[in-house]
Amino acid sequence: MAWRCSGLSNEELVNNMRRRIHLPGGRDYLSEPVEKAMKAVDHANYVRGKRDVNAYDDSPQSETIGYVGPTISAPHMWHAYALEHLLEFLKPGARVLDVGSGSGYLVAVLHHLVGDTGKVVGIELPKLVTVTCSEGNLRQDGLGRALDSGAIEMVAGRLREGYAPGGPYEVIHVGAAALNVPQALLSDQLASPGRMFTPAGVAVHAGDRANR
Ligand code: SAH
Repeated sequence: MAWRCSGLSNEELVNNMRRRIHLPGGRDYLSEPVEKAMKAVDHANYVRGKRDVNAYDDSPQSETIGYVGPTISAPHMWHAYALEHLLEFLKPGARVLDVGSGSGYLVAVLHHLVGDTGKVVGIELPKLVTVTCSEGNLRQDGLGRALDSGAIEMVAGRLREGYAPGGPYEVIHVGAAALNVPQALLSDQLASPGRMFTPAGVAVHAGDRANR
């Protein structure tokens, strides 16, 4: 894929997004908060059991979280793109739902953006090994305290159900393949105001919920 941004270190991976990312308004570099949060999370902590995998390669690595499942071809670029679109709502103290949390990598980046007073819930298909693995990754990355305090919560669940007990969420990010905008999440679990970023078939949809 032409827009990959692989590197030999976490720093290089994030730096390589410059001029490869295309953001609204023609910006081709990451905002300071997103760059800082992405640099704070070393992707190597989220790649398990495969010595031959380059943790800083911008290619699908779902097999490293315990199974092969639907994933995205250039995950770091997708993550950066999503974070930039959601940034306005990723304030300290915000509640965030990450659907398809996989390795827990994006959950960690989101946690750095909303801080200890915020809450990030990651939901992943009900395969215990995956949730357990992602919690292990987060602890390995120094986020055990955030898990213990509830600032980060990893839950087995599905896109169609979301996770109502943690909501409503100011931000919902859907990293799982979705054929349509998940309407139930939009109407029942997104706060007002709030913003959802989701794939919808082959398109990407960023939608706001206005203040009621
Ligand atoms: N952001 C993740 C990677 C996302 S890959 C990370 O940082 O690691 C997409 C993930 O969505 C996969 O782990 C897949 O298992 C999960 N997924 C696919 N369909 C899903 C569904 N219906 N509900 C919840 N998760 C789903």
